[in-house]
Amino acid sequence: MLTIKCKNCEMILESHPTKTRSCQCKNFTNIRGTNISAKNLSLVEIIYNPLEKKLPLLNKQDMEFQEKRKQRKIRKLNFEER
Ligand SMILES: [Zn+2]
Repeated sequence: MLTIKCKNCEMILESHPTKTRSCQCKNFTNIRGTNISAKNLSLVEIIYNPLEKKLPLLNKQDMEFQEKRKQRKIRKLNFEER
């Protein structure tokens, strides 16, 4: 689960799997599970993300490889539809 902070009103929101947590300011920062939404996402700071601690950070090459693999998959699916 995530912990986020609304930089606009300084409210700390801890995510809950089924309940939506939201701050009270005009930025409407809210979080439900791992879905974060806000009027202005740049005003939302992720304080704690346990997933980032468990998974080793992918280097840039790995990221590009993952992206390419995703794109290939999409193209293949499109092809099969036709
Ligand atoms: Zn706020």
